[in-house]
Amino acid sequence: MILILEPNVDVASERYSQLIRYLDSNEHVTYTTHEVHGSGQVLTEVYLIGNTSALTLDYMRSLPCVKRVVRVQESYRILGRHGEEDRPTGFTYNGVTFSQDTLHVFAGLCAVDTPEHVEIMLAALKERSQVCTRMGAYKPRTNPYSFQGHGGSCLPWVFELAGKYDIKVIAMEITHESHIDEINEALERTGNPTGIMLQIGTRNTQNFELLKSVGRQKTLPVLFKRGFGITLNESLNAAEYLASEGNPNVVFALRGMKNQGGDPHRNMVDFSHVPVVKRLTRMPVCVDPSHSVGSRDRAPDGMLDVFHAAAQGVVAGANMVLVDFHPAPSKALVDGPQALRMDELSWFLDDVAIAREAYEKRKARASVA
Ligand code: PEP
Ligand code: MN
Repeated sequence: MILILEPNVDVASERYSQLIRYLDSNEHVTYTTHEVHGSGQVLTEVYLIGNTSALTLDYMRSLPCVKRVVRVQESYRILGRHGEEDRPTGFTYNGVTFSQDTLHVFAGLCAVDTPEHVEIMLAALKERSQVCTRMGAYKPRTNPYSFQGHGGSCLPWVFELAGKYDIKVIAMEITHESHIDEINEALERTGNPTGIMLQIGTRNTQNFELLKSVGRQKTLPVLFKRGFGITLNESLNAAEYLASEGNPNVVFALRGMKNQGGDPHRNMVDFSHVPVVKRLTRMPVCVDPSHSVGSRDRAPDGMLDVFHAAAQGVVAGANMVLVDFHPAPSKALVDGPQALRMDELSWFLDDVAIAREAYEKRKARASVA
């Protein structure tokens, strides 16, 4: 059950204290509160967990500060929509808002290699007024002898360079809970020049202990990738682990499914699920055309398959695009064959903007259908 409180509720007020006293006195339920900072107002939601079946909607609605009560379905209790169309989606982190209405491109290096390459990437992004990027420091690799990423050692200089080029949010995969502390320490030591969105990779979609650790920290938002060999329902349930532990600031990423139907792409592009995830949950939805397509193959129309896949996601309403770039793809230590080149950045961003415009037009047309 979710209690949606009156906007801008005063947590120091006697009415709020009465509500909390009531919740504390109910031994059958536990609760967590979550604040959504929207334009001009703060919405507080209280998530009740446990045996809520005995609580009637009318009674809960009569409690002080409560504006609305939603009885949730079993699945995705916090992240789900539960038939509600008007509850806010998304969150703001380090000055950047992520919701089901926004769009951000995270172009960057699959794996951090040299300061020179990182700087070339970030300078190109700044030139195009981009404030987000991707930088992999901890890489989960199929082969134990492959490059595993520079790990914590590269964080200080990556963060400093990001600050130099006004990057606000870096998507960075972690594979172990100790990486959260390494990232936070490096951010603090360098004076918080940038922000981090913790990425859960497809190989860890159901690593529930990692998800619980990431969910217990509420400072950094999470980019959660769907599992490449499980159902959408299973992936959405796994994402809910993050919220159930306290962190509902989650972006859900589609990155393709591993099956032979996708050949010759690395994975079966699954971007038709963009509207499905938006319908079932309140998470902003990301598409990752690089890991879906896995190559620089080009169609007869002159556009790379990665461009086409990205456009398919954006035209369907995607809120984020995670895409691999590299200043010298042949020298990239991870996923060079799918990386776009620096001289393709402007073209890619323009192509995304064209697809976004088409989406906006489609949405406007639908509103008068
Ligand atoms: C990545 O984004 O670099 C990555 C490893 O992606 P995925 O988990 O989707 O394979
Ligand atoms: Mn990769």
